[in-house]
Amino acid sequence: DSVFANLVQAPEDPILGVTVAYNKDPSPVKVNLGVGAYRTEEGKPLVLNVVRQAEQLLVNDRSRVKEYLPITGLADFNKLSSKLIFGSDSPAIRENRVTTVQCLSGTGSLRVGAEFLAKHYHQRVIYIPHPTWGNHPKVFTLAGLSVKTYRYYDPATRGLNFQGLLEDLGSAPSGAIVLLHACAHNPTGVDPTIEQWEQIRQLMRSKALLPFFDSAYQGFASGSLDADAQPVRLFVADGGELLAAQSYAKNMGLYGERVGALSIVCKSADVAAKVESQLKLVIRPMYSNPPIHGASIVATILKDSELYREWTIELKAMADRIISMRHQLFDALRARGTPGDWTHIIKQIGMFTFTGLNTQQVAFMTQEYHIYMTSDGRISMAGLSSRTVPHLADAIHAAVT
Ligand code: PMP
Repeated sequence: DSVFANLVQAPEDPILGVTVAYNKDPSPVKVNLGVGAYRTEEGKPLVLNVVRQAEQLLVNDRSRVKEYLPITGLADFNKLSSKLIFGSDSPAIRENRVTTVQCLSGTGSLRVGAEFLAKHYHQRVIYIPHPTWGNHPKVFTLAGLSVKTYRYYDPATRGLNFQGLLEDLGSAPSGAIVLLHACAHNPTGVDPTIEQWEQIRQLMRSKALLPFFDSAYQGFASGSLDADAQPVRLFVADGGELLAAQSYAKNMGLYGERVGALSIVCKSADVAAKVESQLKLVIRPMYSNPPIHGASIVATILKDSELYREWTIELKAMADRIISMRHQLFDALRARGTPGDWTHIIKQIGMFTFTGLNTQQVAFMTQEYHIYMTSDGRISMAGLSSRTVPHLADAIHAAVT
């Protein structure tokens, strides 16, 4: 008998499991709105033109070898990544107060940051928004932090519960870590306004709460890299400390390359150097050092002004297509006279719409219309196209009437 015979079968991941179910469905009209990955109008995955160009440059460079990277990753990549999120003129970077390490996409950056905090920070509690990306509580719990939630979303308005957020952060213990979605909150698509961010900042700094930004969608929310980084930069500008996890999965379409970065902004260059030395001790026994290819693609694009410019254009085109899907879906529901207020579809930001559809309605749409989405009613707008919008609108209409 197997030594593992008494294992119980684990459930599928709630998000990635949607794709597993989708792949099993033989229907020709099936639509996958589960996973947050960009698709073209034709429903195909997209490799950006600039990524193809950068890869070509890398392949043609015969001096490139496959040696190990340092524990902290590709130095150029790290420098350019911190400039991308904090701004090229950031005083924190100029003063050498930022340490940046290349990690395995957004998830790996969150995990390394969390392991570091669990080992070295005086407060073990992290507040995450309710709801949030389903992997957050698992990443932080397994790293050894204790997870609590703060109110974020108001189902009645399908918008921000700003009062609840302020109350919950206001009663958090001094020094607690707070996870903030830098932009395009997943799964709700609801972000604070810049004025609300400023109030959050003041409250958090007054209580010495430590910000941990998760930036998985820079450029995807508004189409502008700078606009989407505004909340993070607001917190850097006051001179205080923070962590930021960056992912290039969405904004450069590098999903499977697993490219990301963890930055820790410190009070002084001296502290930043010590922090980096300790980050290396977290990383070395976990995976030794990060992979070279994806980070080289990113560095090639970020350091070449022409490639960078082309990237911003391609990024804007992806963001614009998503925004146009919001309008098409909203118009299609209005044309059908579907009962309810659907303005949140055009108000929400980023890759996802939090439809407000309940578990039963989602199950109905999957069963009768072969439309796949997470059971909380979140749909990936990036998975929609002009061809599939009418089908989705029919399904929503049938589900709510
Ligand atoms: N944070 C959030 C909020 C996300 O939505 C995602 C991707 N779904 C991630 C982090 C991490 O993604 P990745 O590890 O692929 O960069």
